[in-house]
Amino acid sequence: MKFNPADNIQDVQYFGEFGGVNPSISDSSTYTFMSANTMRDTFEGNTDGCHLYARHTTPSNLYLGAALAAMEGTETANVAASGMGAITPVLLQLVGAGEHIVSSRTIYGGTYAFLKNFTPRLGIETTFVDITKHQVVEAAITKKTKVLYCESVSNPLLEVADIIALAALAKKYNLKLVVDNTFSPLSISPAKLGADIVCHSLTKFINGSSDTVGGVVCGTQEFINNLRSVNDGASMLLGATLDSLRAASVLKNMRTLHIRMKQHSLNASFLANKFEADGLKTVYPGLQSHPSHALFKSMMNAEFGFGGMLTLDVGSLDKANALMELMQYKNVGYLAVSLGFYKTLFSAPRASTSSEIPEEEQKVMGLSEGLIRFSIGLDNDISRTYKLMKGCMKEVGIL
Ligand SMILES: *Cc1c(COP(=O)(O)O)cnc(C)c1O
Repeated sequence: MKFNPADNIQDVQYFGEFGGVNPSISDSSTYTFMSANTMRDTFEGNTDGCHLYARHTTPSNLYLGAALAAMEGTETANVAASGMGAITPVLLQLVGAGEHIVSSRTIYGGTYAFLKNFTPRLGIETTFVDITKHQVVEAAITKKTKVLYCESVSNPLLEVADIIALAALAKKYNLKLVVDNTFSPLSISPAKLGADIVCHSLTKFINGSSDTVGGVVCGTQEFINNLRSVNDGASMLLGATLDSLRAASVLKNMRTLHIRMKQHSLNASFLANKFEADGLKTVYPGLQSHPSHALFKSMMNAEFGFGGMLTLDVGSLDKANALMELMQYKNVGYLAVSLGFYKTLFSAPRASTSSEIPEEEQKVMGLSEGLIRFSIGLDNDISRTYKLMKGCMKEVGIL
């Protein structure tokens, strides 16, 4: 049977404590034991189904983790308080002082800052590479390299990583391939393509209502156990624990993820095609003109489309700002960072989410000043939205 992440989410069955169709929310930070020996065993991590303390596990967090592991096709998953709260412990668990990471240079600004500015303090060095050039990636690997890190679809440039090729490279050099799949849930299933560990910010498409932050690490039982170890587990010890109440609400939102992703993709694809035809510099993986269009197509779970993210380069920051302000005024969407909301969100990455990246490096990677990143919403009638946007572009002199 063909792997289908949405069917897998659907097939996770829950029975609440009182037969509720939603699992009961665990409103406790600590858990009782009927026998003192069971408590000791749980501390040592060898009793299934027992909970100790909420920073370790909670029933609600495990329910959400089960749905996310099903989605990515991994043995299990560990949820966290944010995307960064998922990603940073993974890297710290896998890499220590004197060791090395090879990372894509076009990654989320926070992850970039962590690798560039923070981990060197711990003796961890990172080489940033153009992840689409496999010879460059391979040449950056040293004897000390432990992790190959990338995003399946990169933020904000929408570069696509060849996960199968990168997994082969990771295998050859005995590295762990860690993939941030935040931009392409359902559309791409990195673990099925050979990634060892898949991370998400749940804050974006997966939760989809811009009301909470959350994150997840999907991987093997062995690795997740390591992260949760009371002795040396980075997730356990750094303590970015998701609250059970929020885990329950994210789980409920996940049930419509497939419907939302299809609509995000449909709307983004419609707009990308129109904008490109209008002569605007448009980047969208679903466009023939995208350098990795064929690659994305070869990796994707086709029914979920090419995702909801697109970028337009309108030439200058002044024009970008004028357009964004006008689009917000006309209620196209919101001038806000983040993604995956029901309304379209837009921001200029150079001045916001990628401002952690030094200007020189921004230029090298092709992050131009007039770039606007769009997370296209769930608009019922996207042609109406297109007319509205086109009107704004004419008014500020872009079209
Ligand atoms: C937002 C984001 C993150 C960080 O997630 P938070 O939930 O904000 O901590 C990491 N990676 C990508 C690609 C993101 O878009």
